[in-house]
This record gives sequence, structure tokens and C-alpha cells, in this order.
Amino acid sequence: MQMLVFQIARQQAKSLLETAWDGEFPVKLGGISQTLDAEVLHDHLPPELSGFIVKREGEDTVHIMLNSTESTERQRFTWAHELGHLIERATLAGDDDYSFVETRMPERYDLHEFFADEFAGTLLMPAPKIRELQARGITAAGMAAFFGVSLKAMRKRLDRLKKQPDAD
Ligand SMILES: [Zn+2]
Repeated sequence: MQMLVFQIARQQAKSLLETAWDGEFPVKLGGISQTLDAEVLHDHLPPELSGFIVKREGEDTVHIMLNSTESTERQRFTWAHELGHLIERATLAGDDDYSFVETRMPERYDLHEFFADEFAGTLLMPAPKIRELQARGITAAGMAAFFGVSLKAMRKRLDRLKKQPDAD
């Protein structure tokens, strides 16, 4: 059976959590990035830019830049989103030379961006924990605080899981 893009993205994020995550919430991205040879910098970027990722041919290290003027929650999601691009390029596309730029204009929303968003949602907000929090009656705002994401990202993740529930 052929897997759909969202299923592959979720599966990749889960396997990364299994191998590189210490099990603590909010999910810390620093250690995970190290295992992927990703160097992450936070710096002032233009307001329309959330961040970007650059991988040059033949170089082991991938460079991720995040806009330090944005909230910690937004930076965390962009960070996880960039790791999604990294995984997609490395495992699915076998691409050694690439770059993605995140702007606030969603005019260029394609399957790569969808993969990266779905990956980031799964990495930062694992479904089993969401179900546990929901069972305890925790609101979306409470969950957002727990996972260290924006309320918008939390709502989008809940919406995605409602539309396409996780098998496990
Ligand atoms: Zn992107």
C-alpha cells in the first residue's frame, strides 16, 4: 500500500522522536538537530521572513536560521518545520543541495511545505500525548502551553488529526 505524504511525514517524525528525543515536554529541538547535523542560529531577519534552511552539496552540516524577533513558540515551529524539510530532502528526495525560505506569505504552499508542517506538528505535538491531555479535559490553549507552541499551531494540529486521524 502506498503511503500518503502526510503519513510519511508523521512516520518520519515519530521515528525521529524514538531515536533522538529524551521523552520530555516541551520537545527540545537542540539535541534532535545535533543528531541530524543541523546547525541552528537565531538572528534578526526581516519581519516577513520566519526562517530558512540551506544545505550545500558535499557539506555535512545543514544550516537553519530562525528569526529571533518572532516569539519562542513561532521559532520552535519554524525550527521543527525546517527539520521536516531536512528529513524530506535526505530520506525521500536524496537531495544534497537545497534551500527553503519561510515567508509569511503562503502563496507557495506545495507538497514540500505540507510535508514540513505535518512533520513539525507530529514532532512537537505527538498524538498520544494530545489524546492524554484531551482525556484530562485540557483546552487547546492549555495544550499549546504544554507543548510550547502557538495556539494557532495547536489548533491546526488538532484540526489535522480530526481530518486525518492517526492510526496509532
Ligand atoms: Zn518550508
